[in-house]
Amino acid sequence: MKPIFNLITIVSVMTMISCTQHKTTQQPVSLDPSFMDTTIAPGESFYQYATGGWQQANPIPDEYARYGSFDNLREENQQQIQLLIEALGSEEYPAGSNAQKVGDIYRMGIDSIRLNEQGATPILHQLKAIAAAKDKQDVIRLMAEVSRYAGNPFFAFAVGPDDKNSSMNIVHLYQSGIGMGDRDYYLLEDDHSRSLREAYLRLMETQFQNAGYDEANAGQAAANVMRIETALAEAHITREMRRIPELNYHKMRIEELAVEVAPFEWDLYFTEVGAYGLDSLNVSHPASVKAAIGVIEQEPVESLQDYLSWKVINSAASYLSDAFVEANFEFYGKTLSGSKELRPRWRRTIDAVNGALGEAVGQLYVEQYFPPQAKERMLTLVDNLSLALGERIAQLEWMSDDTKAKALEKLATFTVKIGYPDKWKDYAPLEIADDTYWQNMVRASEFEFAEMISELGQPVDKSKWYMSPQTVNAYYNPSSNEICFPAGILQPPFFYMDGDDAINYGGIGVVIGHEMTHGFDDQGRKFDKEGNLTDWWTADDASRFDERTRVLVNHFDAIAVLDSVHANGTFTLGENIADQGGMQASYHAFMKTNQAVAGELIDGFTPAQRFFLSYAALWAGNVRDAEILRLTKIDPHSLGRWRVDGAVPHVDAWYEAFGITSSDPLWLPEEKRAAIW
Ligand SMILES: [Zn+2]
Repeated sequence: MKPIFNLITIVSVMTMISCTQHKTTQQPVSLDPSFMDTTIAPGESFYQYATGGWQQANPIPDEYARYGSFDNLREENQQQIQLLIEALGSEEYPAGSNAQKVGDIYRMGIDSIRLNEQGATPILHQLKAIAAAKDKQDVIRLMAEVSRYAGNPFFAFAVGPDDKNSSMNIVHLYQSGIGMGDRDYYLLEDDHSRSLREAYLRLMETQFQNAGYDEANAGQAAANVMRIETALAEAHITREMRRIPELNYHKMRIEELAVEVAPFEWDLYFTEVGAYGLDSLNVSHPASVKAAIGVIEQEPVESLQDYLSWKVINSAASYLSDAFVEANFEFYGKTLSGSKELRPRWRRTIDAVNGALGEAVGQLYVEQYFPPQAKERMLTLVDNLSLALGERIAQLEWMSDDTKAKALEKLATFTVKIGYPDKWKDYAPLEIADDTYWQNMVRASEFEFAEMISELGQPVDKSKWYMSPQTVNAYYNPSSNEICFPAGILQPPFFYMDGDDAINYGGIGVVIGHEMTHGFDDQGRKFDKEGNLTDWWTADDASRFDERTRVLVNHFDAIAVLDSVHANGTFTLGENIADQGGMQASYHAFMKTNQAVAGELIDGFTPAQRFFLSYAALWAGNVRDAEILRLTKIDPHSLGRWRVDGAVPHVDAWYEAFGITSSDPLWLPEEKRAAIW
C-alpha cells in the first residue's frame, strides 16, 4: 500500500454531537474564552495562550494516552455510529445486507459473556495448522496464509501503484514483522527501551499461556519470537530513510530476485499468496527482505512456528476473551503509551466495525450526518485555497519559471475528494456469520486481501478511497496526486457549516492547504502531476528547496519534547512543511474574504487573530509522557503543542496579528523563518 500522508496518525480512539443547523448565512462562531489562558502572552507560548484553558478543563481520561479536540470529535463520531447501529438492531435485515453485517459484528463484539466462554477457541484451528508444519516449505505456505489476516510475518506483501508508472498496480515487498513497531525498541540500550523489551517478553509469555502453552513452553516461545524479531529489526532501514522515495524503490524482474535480494522459494511464496504470473515487482527494502529470508533459513522450524503463532495470537488478542484483551492493553496501552484504563467495550467494538466494514458504516453515516451543502461549501474553500497556493507559487523568488510552470500544472491537476466515494465498495462477497468475532475479522481481512490481489496487473482505480467517510482525518496521496477530506472531519472544530470565514479558514482551510502542500513537501515534490516518481525540478531549485527546508529541520531538532528528548526534525519535515505551508496558503486565501477586508472585531479579536486562534484550537490537548516518547519515535507529525508553537513563528502574518516583537520568546529573526511555499 502506498504511504498515505494523513493529517494526523489514526489512533484508534474517538462523545456526541448534534447535527449542525443549516442556515444560509454565515454566523460568527464563538471562540470560547475559557479555552484560552490569557495569563500567558501569545508570544510566550501561543499554544498555551490559545488553548491553555481547554487543557485545564479537559484532563486526560484514564483510557487515553493523548486526549485533544481531535479525540473529542472522534468520540462524538463513535457515538453517532453507535446510534446508527443500535437503530439497526431494532429491525431484522435480510441476510447478506450491509445492515445485517454491521449489526451482527457489533453484537458479537460487545457480547463479553460469549467471548469469555470461547476463550482461546477461536484461534486454536489456526495455531494447530501452524503446529503441523514439518519443514521450511510448510513455513512458507503458512507465512503466506497468515499474511492474509494477521499482519505481515517476516516481511510485507502488498499490491499498489508502481511509483514510476502510477497508473498500474504492481507487487511491493517491504520490511515488516516486528510487534513493537519500531526497530529502536529492539536495538537501543537506554532504560526505556530495555524496560519495553522486558514488558514485551512478559506480554508474549502471558498470551502464549492464554493460548494454552504451559509456562516453560510459553517462556521458550517468547524468547524465540524476541530473537527473530530482533534479527528482523536489525535489518530494518530507519524511519528517516523510509521518507526518501528513491531509497524505497527497487523494481526488478522476477528472475532477478534470487540475485538482487536472496535465493528463496519465490514461486512457492507467490503462488501461496495468490500472486500468479508475475514478471516484475518492487522490493522496497531489499536488505530487510534478505535478512528476513536469512531468518527463515537459519532458524529451526519450531522457532518459526512460534513466530507465526505469535502473529496470530497478537493480531487476534483484541477480539478474544478478557484475558487476552487485558494482557494486550497492559503492554500496548499502559506500558507503551501510558493509558491507565481500557476504553469501554462498545467504543473498541465501533473501531473494529469501522475497520472491517468501513464503507458499509460510512454509507449509513453520510445519509444521516453529512449534508450536501457541506460539500458545496468545501468545494468553494478548496478552489480558493488552490487559487491562493497558485498565486504564492507564481510569486516565489527562489524558484525558476520552469519549475514553477510544472508546480502550477501539478496543483491544477489535483483530484479532490470530499465527503464520501462516488462508488461504494461492494461487501457482497464478505460473509459475516454467527461463529466467532475473531473469525469474522479474519474473513474481513481476507476479503480486503482478495480485493487487493484482484487489482494486481490492473490499472489503478483512481476513484478508490483510502479512508472511510466517517474518519476524522484527511490525506494526500502522491501516487494519484489527490487530496481527500472524508465527511468525518467536516465538523467543528475543523469546519462550521455556517461559521464565519476566519474560523473556517483557520480550521479546515489550513487542513486543505496542509494536504495540498504535501504535494510539494520533501517527499511529495518528487512525484509529478501524474503521480510518478520523477525529478521535475531543476537542480538549482531542488538545492534551494533543501536549503529552505533545512531551516525547519533545525528548528524542530532544537525542540525538547520531554526532558532531554528532542523532536526529530528530519522525520517530521513533511508534516511541518505542510502545517506551515497550509497556514500560509489559507491565510493568503482568507485575506481576500469580505470579513478579512472589513476587519471588524468579533469578541474583541481581529479577523486575523481569530484565524490563528481557530488553527491552534485544532490541536488543543493533553498527552502523557510515555505517549510523548512513543509518538516522537513513530509519528511523522509533530506533537500538538509543536504544531502550533513550532509552526506559527514561521508565519509572518502571525507576528502582525498579535504584535509579536523580538522581546517575545517565540520570536524568530527573519533569516531563521522558513520561507518555502
Ligand atoms: Zn499531513
